[in-house]
Amino acid sequence: MAYGFDTLQIHAGARPDPATGARQTPIYQTTAYVFRDAEHAAALFNLQEVGYIYSRLTNPTVAVLQERVATLEGGAGAVCCSSGHAAQIMALFPLMEPGRNVVVSTRLYGGSITQFSQTIKRFGWSAKFVDIDDMDAISAAIDDDTRAIFCESIANPGGHIADLDAIAKVADQAGLPLIVDNTSATPFLCRPIEHGATLVVHSMTKYLTGNGTVTGGVVVDSGTFDWSASDKFPSLSQPEPAYHGLKFHETFGPLAFTFHGIAVGLRDLGMTLNPQAAHYTLMGIETLSLRMERHCENAVRVAEWLENDDRIAGVTYAGLKSSPYNDRMAKICPRGAGGLFTVALKGGYDSCVKLVDNLELFSHVANLGDTRSLIIHSASTTHRQLTPEQQKAAGAAPDVVRISIGTEDANDIIADLDQALSKAAN
Ligand SMILES: *Cc1c(COP(=O)(O)O)cnc(C)c1O
Repeated sequence: MAYGFDTLQIHAGARPDPATGARQTPIYQTTAYVFRDAEHAAALFNLQEVGYIYSRLTNPTVAVLQERVATLEGGAGAVCCSSGHAAQIMALFPLMEPGRNVVVSTRLYGGSITQFSQTIKRFGWSAKFVDIDDMDAISAAIDDDTRAIFCESIANPGGHIADLDAIAKVADQAGLPLIVDNTSATPFLCRPIEHGATLVVHSMTKYLTGNGTVTGGVVVDSGTFDWSASDKFPSLSQPEPAYHGLKFHETFGPLAFTFHGIAVGLRDLGMTLNPQAAHYTLMGIETLSLRMERHCENAVRVAEWLENDDRIAGVTYAGLKSSPYNDRMAKICPRGAGGLFTVALKGGYDSCVKLVDNLELFSHVANLGDTRSLIIHSASTTHRQLTPEQQKAAGAAPDVVRISIGTEDANDIIADLDQALSKAAN
């Protein structure tokens, strides 16, 4: 039986605890698991049998979360990790080698731009930034060393919606996986795999947990990419020396990427999600659809109010009829454009800083996707490390604030913005 999203967000991956019957998924706060005997231990270490060895690799609470997110995204499997940024490295790790590159969108979370433009160079990897709306530019950027294309479904902070089907087509023609960061949309609003994505990554820190209590990430694999079709992905298609020459794709088929993520990625990189964090995230996901509906409803009301206010120079929300991305919503995220957008103030940089300082209900924080309404002036904070050109391309120009609309009463959100805008204009 195919359950609906609201049912799956509560039940997928979970079952009453086999030892106690506990209805809610227990927090398995344990580092290690007792082997039945020496033969059992050997089989587990050889990947001949699936089971629990050590919580850096697998943990029953984390396993429920992995299955829950994989199900909601329509993927074959998922690997949880310690943050959204860890998930991005975990997604690229099996695909890349020194000298290889990834083609990435210019419209990304500020931290991702830094990770891709600076930090991955230390691994000998590089990123080529392109306008993700320009299919010719994506094609032109792809070369023999390219191993993936990376973009966000609804881009943070500008709310730009990527034409995933068109990008997936370019990736497909080049024999490359498309990796989509679905953090801002969540699987309730957008299911990138249905639009051709190979891998989906999330910062679970945001909407999936939904209340600002944990950092966590996840990589979901569609299970549909043929890693053996070319010689580009030897980690998945060729013998793995650390497992007696086992070939992941040949052995695990659609679960090759997931098994590699656990058996090599988590084992050796150690970017593991702890069971307590998995528990909080499971609690959050139970109400994901309810929260996202309210986030979207509130965001439309607030964005419309802002758009008609004469202290405002512009609002980027794709849920507004005036947005150039409004047409894409029907195709990519028909249930709504999320709760995140930017607002340009006529008063420029100074007004942005005053607005942030005078809001009372809103919190001035470097986070998004909370039940609380949040605001940040990206240019002076999250996007501070970027050049002015990069800031503009990422939708974080100096005269712009990023707003993450919470699930409070929309009238209260609007009233708070109104009083703070009055002070910011002086
Ligand atoms: C926050 C965020 C990240 C990074 O996630 P962390 O959990 O903070 O490491 C990546 N992508 C997007 C779109 C984000 O909003």
